[in-house]
Amino acid sequence: MVRVMPAAREQAVGQGAVPRELQDVFEKTFRYGNCLGENPRRRALWTRGAGVPVRVLPQDPGPVDVLFYVEDYWSYHPRGQQAAQAFARVATALGVDFAILGPEERTVGDSQRLAGERGLFEALAEQVMATLAKYQFARIVTPDPHAFNALLKEYPKRGGHYEVLHYTQLLAPLVDRLPMRSDLPPRRVTFHDPCYLGRHNGEYDAPRSLLRAIPGVELVEMARCRENGYCCGGGGGGMWLDGLSGSHTRERLSERRVREAAATGAEVLAVCCPYEVSRFEDAAKSTGNEQLVVRDIVELLDEAMVKSADGGGGDGA
Ligand code: SF4
Repeated sequence: MVRVMPAAREQAVGQGAVPRELQDVFEKTFRYGNCLGENPRRRALWTRGAGVPVRVLPQDPGPVDVLFYVEDYWSYHPRGQQAAQAFARVATALGVDFAILGPEERTVGDSQRLAGERGLFEALAEQVMATLAKYQFARIVTPDPHAFNALLKEYPKRGGHYEVLHYTQLLAPLVDRLPMRSDLPPRRVTFHDPCYLGRHNGEYDAPRSLLRAIPGVELVEMARCRENGYCCGGGGGGMWLDGLSGSHTRERLSERRVREAAATGAEVLAVCCPYEVSRFEDAAKSTGNEQLVVRDIVELLDEAMVKSADGGGGDGA
């Protein structure tokens, strides 16, 4: 398939025709290794609120099963940090042996690549692969479908061969072992397929099997789902251009998607992509659909799980 838009964006970047918002993201990524311009030393701060210990490999090296590649939004964005903390609790309850890179993590850079900054992506890929080469792990698990896509399809072309899973693929075969509460009310939940998990990489079932495992959840599909899923508009750098696109369009793609979700009668819009929670929460407000609660699937699992005194799950491991 000819990838027309990435090529066109790359040409635009090469000619210096880059919106200021995007240039700002590129510069932050180049300087700090993350698109938000945050201090790399603060990468692991989210772990303090997790309520369970999270191993940081540079401080505690040695073999580990799962290298949890947190990526930028779950590391730094307040809503993403809540999901990262939920993941840590659920993974701990399931007995997953996992660790993070903490201050040594840099973004994998797929969105920068798709936004046209191929040179920046190549530099990031080299740095990320050099960091990964220092540690022993069996597989990489990430919550970010964009990072998942790059690690699966772009890094092998550059010599980086890893077993890579999206977090929903890690948890789906284990979820039956998660101790669930028996007092959960019935809830209608609809699910937005992230395009870089679904249409680009063919994974539709793992997120749905997690949702179906939650007591009380009735999964209702939007008219556009699975292979016909609908992009939220965040791909190719779109998540960094919301202000710009909002002033040039009648309706953002995320707003259209929220209207579709609300039309199902669902109370909850479930997602499993770090960019989507805040985008859809904003869209729910701007379209007058505040009744629609946006949650990452792992947050729903965490809410449904029986908690033990140490903050993790019951005796799930
Ligand atoms: S953020 Fe948007 S563009 Fe990215 S995977 Fe999710 S739906 Fe697709």
